[in-house]
This record gives sequence, structure tokens and C-alpha cells, in this order.
Amino acid sequence: MANVKEFSVEEKLSSLVSLQKIDSKLDEIKILKGELPMEVRDLEDEIQGLHARQTRVEEEINGIQEFIEQKKNVIKDSQGLVKKYEKQSENVKNSREFEAINKEMELQNLEVKLAEKHIKDANEEIGDKARLLESAKKAVAAKDGVLKHKKGELEKIIGETEKEEQEFREQATTAKEKVDPRLLSSYERIRKNYRNGLAVVAIVRDACGGCFNAIPPQRQSEIRQRKKIIVCENCGRILVDEELHDQVAGNEAK
Ligand SMILES: [Zn+2]
Repeated sequence: MANVKEFSVEEKLSSLVSLQKIDSKLDEIKILKGELPMEVRDLEDEIQGLHARQTRVEEEINGIQEFIEQKKNVIKDSQGLVKKYEKQSENVKNSREFEAINKEMELQNLEVKLAEKHIKDANEEIGDKARLLESAKKAVAAKDGVLKHKKGELEKIIGETEKEEQEFREQATTAKEKVDPRLLSSYERIRKNYRNGLAVVAIVRDACGGCFNAIPPQRQSEIRQRKKIIVCENCGRILVDEELHDQVAGNEAK
């Protein structure tokens, strides 16, 4: 703790208002980006999944093609054997030998038929897989298009707000240094509780600027004295008078 300085309540309130104004600017930028960062992330995940599915189907097709090649070899071998047996049958010595050769030939012809059937089935399977692959590719292309569009939108917003955001972040860091840690943590806690991120509000028309609950005159005058940190009894936000709220610079980005 090199720089222990005790701030007055008024200084603390001014610092909080200043921080609130900067944080509100950062909130505005966040709202501008909206769901885009999440949508882009989801789409990227989805496309990655589709690509993985595509690769899987391609590998399956390759496997089936290998199977077909094996079956073609089976056919070639069997046909070779049949030819060999045909030649042998020309020189048979008796009917028993003839029958034995005939049986072998029948067996090999059956092998050929069976392999042909396997090839036919495998080709049908490839056809199914190819259609699956085609639709997966189309799905990827469609998602890619949406992703490009969303990414473009997001990049445009980032491009327009990046410098500003950076400046606001630096300003917020500086502003936080002027708020004592305990007050800062209640500020952060209140901010998280409200969708609009407002933790410090001014009195507006005799009411809390956050929840519009009426504030009695006695309490309003206490707030104007700036001697105590006073929170709204209804919503818990830190209250400041309008004058203090307006005099704190809005910290516009240059
Ligand atoms: Zn309130």
C-alpha cells in the first residue's frame, strides 16, 4: 500500500459515478455485439462437427472400396481356377475324375456369384454413403455462409468499437483505483444484480433513478449532503444527487 489516501464520501461517490458512466458505455458496446460472439462460437463448433462427420463417412467409403477390391480379386482367382479345371476336364480318364473336377468348378462358380453379390451390395452402400456425404457437404456450405455473414457483422462492430472499448477499459481501471475495495465490491455486486448494469443512480423527480421508488424529502437532503453512502431501500442501488451525477464527466472516448 504505497499510496494510502483517505477519500471523502463525496470523492468516493464522484469516483463511483464516473466508474458507472464508463461501465455503462462498455455495457452499450456489449449490447451492440449482442449474441453474435456466442452465435459465431456455436457455428464454428457445429461446422467442426460436420467436418468430422464428413471425414468419417469418407473413411467408411474408402473401407468399402477396399472390400470391393478384395472381392474382385476373389473373382479373378476363382475364374482362373475354373479355366484351369476346364483344361483338366479335357484330359479326364474316368467319370469319377470328371465329376470331381465338375464339382470344383461349380464351387468356384459359386464363389464368383457370392463375390458379385457382395460387390453389388457394397456398391449400394457406397451410394447411400455418397448421398450422406453430399448432404453433409451441403450442410457445411450453408453453415459456412451463415458463419461468414455473422463473423463479418461481428468484425464490423469490433472494428468500430475496439478503440473506444480499449479506452473505456483503461478509464475503468483508473477509476477503480479511486474507489476503495469494499465499496467497489458492493458496486460490482449490485451491478450484477441488474440487467441494465446500473449500481449508482441519481435521484430523478424525487424518486430512485433505478427503480423509481419515491424517496422521502428528509432522505433526499441526506443524499445531497454527501456525508454518507446511502442506498435505495427498495432496490439497493447507491444513490447520489442529480447535481453530483451531472457534474461528473461522462468520459467520452477520444
Ligand atoms: Zn431504487
